[in-house]
Amino acid sequence: VTDPADLDMLVRFSLQEKVVLVLFGDLLRVPATGGSLLEQRAKGARISLVYSALDAIEIARQNREQQVVFVGTGFETTAPGTALLIMEAKSGGLKNFSVISLHKLMPPVLRVVLTSGLCRIGGLILPGHVSAITGRLAFDFLASELGYPSVIAGFEPLDVLHATALLMEMAAGKQCAVVNGYPRVVSEQGNTVARRVVREVFAPEAALWRGFGYIEESGLQIKPTYADFDAKKRFGLTPDFSPGGYRDECRCSEVLRGEITPIDCLLFGRKCTPDHPQGACMVSAEGVCSSYL
Ligand code: SF4
Repeated sequence: VTDPADLDMLVRFSLQEKVVLVLFGDLLRVPATGGSLLEQRAKGARISLVYSALDAIEIARQNREQQVVFVGTGFETTAPGTALLIMEAKSGGLKNFSVISLHKLMPPVLRVVLTSGLCRIGGLILPGHVSAITGRLAFDFLASELGYPSVIAGFEPLDVLHATALLMEMAAGKQCAVVNGYPRVVSEQGNTVARRVVREVFAPEAALWRGFGYIEESGLQIKPTYADFDAKKRFGLTPDFSPGGYRDECRCSEVLRGEITPIDCLLFGRKCTPDHPQGACMVSAEGVCSSYL
């Protein structure tokens, strides 16, 4: 869901001297105007991949002459890790470390999608790991306000089948509720400790989404008390909307809004494959277009 303008900003920034970008691998192959971050790395940009956000601190400690910048991506699930990272950097007095927060929040974008009047969605399978943090109650509005039956699902094949069966039972019985189909991980209230850490460091802000534009209160900005670790402020970074940016035939935005299926895209399986992705939905195995293929 990272917008091309934010990716172009990262690509441009990765070319600066004395900068090391640290990020999760799934961002690496997403196409941007000047080539993906993977291509920039091949040309010499200093980009390090990590599996845990806290690894970025170690990289900063080992590279005191460089500005080490962690790119915080993902949803409610990864935001607590980024928040802890910033708190750790502050308590350790790390001067050469900062974070670009591109984190996103699920409930606001679901509200936008479901009230757009454009999508054809009868019910939702909700993400288990996000729900582990938010709790079931955070999604209750889907049924109580918007009238969409929904089931929180785990990630194993049986979890998804179970969630699908629960959705079909609700459809057959004309019921509408948000059901927790993943109770071994998800509770009503979610992980209150993780949410407290996020609230300590971040405040909601309008965020830029691929295919949606800006959505109010759907992103996380670093609070003024941690402003020293906000890379957007430290380096004056803003989304790159330069003319000629990455806006081609890829129809990811319509796929993400549920308006078309991947096979409606002329590039699907031809010019766009997992080996040569043209859009974000083909990049990782979980991407909609990749799954379809
Ligand atoms: S098939 Fe490729 S180009 Fe088409 S919408 Fe999906 S990711 Fe974009």
